[in-house]
Amino acid sequence: MGIERIREEVFCNEVETKLSEAASRLYQRDIGELTDAQIYNCVLQMTKDFTQASNQIKGDKKVYYISAEFLIGKLLSNNLINLGIYDKVREVLVKYGRDITAIEEVENEPSLGNGGLGRLAACFLDSIATLGLCGDGIGLNYHFGLFKQIFDDRLQTAVPDKWITERSWLHKTDMGFDVRFKDMKVRSVLYDIDVIGYENGVNKLHLFDIDTVDESIVKKGISFDKEDIEKNLTLFLYPDDSDEAGNLLRIYQQYFMVSNAAQLILKELHDKQIDLHKMYDHAVIQINDTHPTMVIPELIRILTEEKAMSMDEAIDVVSKTCAYTNHTILAEALEKWPVEYLEKVVPQLMPIIKELDKRVRAKYKDEKVWIIDKEKRVHMAHIDIHYGFSVNGVAALHTEILKETELNCFYKLYPEKFNNKTNGITFRRWLMSCDPELAKVISECIGDSWKKDASNLTRLMDHVDDSDLIDKILAVKKEKKQQLCDYIKAHEQVELDVDSVFDIQIKRMHEYKRQQMNALYIIHKYLEIKSGKKPKRPMTFIFGAKAAPAYVIAQDVIHLLLCLMEVINNDPDVSDCMKVIMVENYNVTYAEKLIPACDISEQISLASKEASGTGNMKFMLNGAVTLGTMDGANVEICDLVGGDNIYVFGKDSDTVIDLYAKSAYVSKDYYKKSKVIKEAVDFITDKKVLAVGHKKNLERLQNELLNKDWFMTLLDLEEYIEVKDKAFADYEDRSAWGKKMLVNIAQAGFFSSDRTIAEYNRDIWKL
Ligand SMILES: *Cc1c(COP(=O)(O)O)cnc(C)c1O
Repeated sequence: MGIERIREEVFCNEVETKLSEAASRLYQRDIGELTDAQIYNCVLQMTKDFTQASNQIKGDKKVYYISAEFLIGKLLSNNLINLGIYDKVREVLVKYGRDITAIEEVENEPSLGNGGLGRLAACFLDSIATLGLCGDGIGLNYHFGLFKQIFDDRLQTAVPDKWITERSWLHKTDMGFDVRFKDMKVRSVLYDIDVIGYENGVNKLHLFDIDTVDESIVKKGISFDKEDIEKNLTLFLYPDDSDEAGNLLRIYQQYFMVSNAAQLILKELHDKQIDLHKMYDHAVIQINDTHPTMVIPELIRILTEEKAMSMDEAIDVVSKTCAYTNHTILAEALEKWPVEYLEKVVPQLMPIIKELDKRVRAKYKDEKVWIIDKEKRVHMAHIDIHYGFSVNGVAALHTEILKETELNCFYKLYPEKFNNKTNGITFRRWLMSCDPELAKVISECIGDSWKKDASNLTRLMDHVDDSDLIDKILAVKKEKKQQLCDYIKAHEQVELDVDSVFDIQIKRMHEYKRQQMNALYIIHKYLEIKSGKKPKRPMTFIFGAKAAPAYVIAQDVIHLLLCLMEVINNDPDVSDCMKVIMVENYNVTYAEKLIPACDISEQISLASKEASGTGNMKFMLNGAVTLGTMDGANVEICDLVGGDNIYVFGKDSDTVIDLYAKSAYVSKDYYKKSKVIKEAVDFITDKKVLAVGHKKNLERLQNELLNKDWFMTLLDLEEYIEVKDKAFADYEDRSAWGKKMLVNIAQAGFFSSDRTIAEYNRDIWKL
């Protein structure tokens, strides 16, 4: 029996005493007399005590994962699972007549991330600790997070997401650093959140903040004075950057994050008495997208100015310490800061950045690889690629596109730096915690070993013709659908039909993800039903998505979906056959309820645009069948499950890249050619929709589709309709569908973030 197992047994035996102690210490009461919120606080306290008693992971070399986002989700149930005491706590609470799910509801979800990139960082921290690797996350403690989404008048409104409560997982430390900007200096304070490995030790998530932040400066919605840095620095993730003040604020935030990171890392190296000339033997910094890029010049600055290192050597040492992960090929998402802005906020970095650029120019004549361009903008990704030792994409196709197209000029210079690390998800959260019913069925069939080694899920392949097993899996799916129906009824006041097909698209709202294409399918079905062609079984279309507040067309797509919801759900001719629902404030907590209940997983981005996707993996693991394009990790899902167990449609990435290169896509042509497309697009401004919606928004969206359609919705629409109809038809053969579900679950093991992290460690970190 391993030491961690022994620890678990000790903890289990102590749960009841510890909870009682906490109840009497905090509330002078018995557990049975407490409210759910009070019990939550007791379980929180107990968990923190157990975590304290667990071992901190140590190592001669440590990875620092720096990220603007950590979308960690609620922590209670995951921490209990990872400590090995979830079942025990549930049992004890049952003894007192209490339900652990009600206790879990009490916790606020930390609003420290936006989408997939932030969720990936959270899964990685879980896997780093689970594999017993020494590694911490470093980010910022945004008081109001991204924002909370509220639907009002069928439009998205953004309000502060005030997630921090008096008692939380945050632990205020006495650590802090001075961070200098051009016109002022701030003193940081460090908050830590423990990251508990599954049956393993503990690492940390370090979140920096300042004491002078003033939450009361936020006025209507999420607007505030963007120039009052001492009061606004860590209020929001991704503050509006549609003006100069917003851009400067983002630079303040980024520099604050990396200057703290650099100082923390150097302090830890100093405490371990490491010779900084060899820092790369003891520290590796993973730069998650370009937001933390300034850590490179900041480290070089400190080493040369404060540690008396020569410029040549500082550059060499830092380059051997830093590795960069690219998350997107969308040009507008690759950060380019005007020199003028950097001069206004962090002038101390500009001599370093200019030196880095000078060295690049001396070596390479191709302007495309220079750091500072003709328009005097600093290309952050170029710093990472020249002055880091590794550049990785996040799925096989994505890395190929980086090498062959987007970053080809860099790949030719540094082929040895480029590598792929296909994303993954933690199965603790995305199966054991969110679908314990399915986890139990799996374990009854193939044992428990998949929890530690996810590749063992393939043992289910020996049972794909076992009709008893398939029946059990179908029964679990129905149970999870019923749970979702209850939750949605309580939270959105909409009643769903548990026997309908649940078709789900949940992800950030963006044109490249093509929620608008799904909307056009829904319109098409609506018109079919109106003309008398009813589907065999009712259909439920579920959406969840936040849109960046400054992204106009994304707001318009949300508006269209909310209008369709109103029109369709209230039309007695169709509402028995189909329902549409867009849930409010989609987040990790909601994802954990939606994903286990999904039949068809919508992964319909324009090929070449979705770097990887991780939602696709979560759905697959929970027995949903993917309807998708050959994009991101969908390609790898398709390879693993085979063509019979996935629904693929749409033009491939080569075709799409070629269309862009030749500017050969004209959406109007597709509109004119196809009656089905025309009817669907026209309906956006049909009088039924206008009756519940805003003409301005709907017309703007329709115009966009007809005259621009940058992400080629109409290109793939007809094939999407055809293949989606086929998926709905196949759903009627329940046992054949159950087999598809089973194959998807069985092949999902590759997408465990434990596998991804083992690869990062093997190829990049070498801890
Ligand atoms: C997994 C996840 C995402 C990423 O979803 P994609 O479909 O990969 O874009 C975004 N938001 C939340 C809350 C998630 O859990």
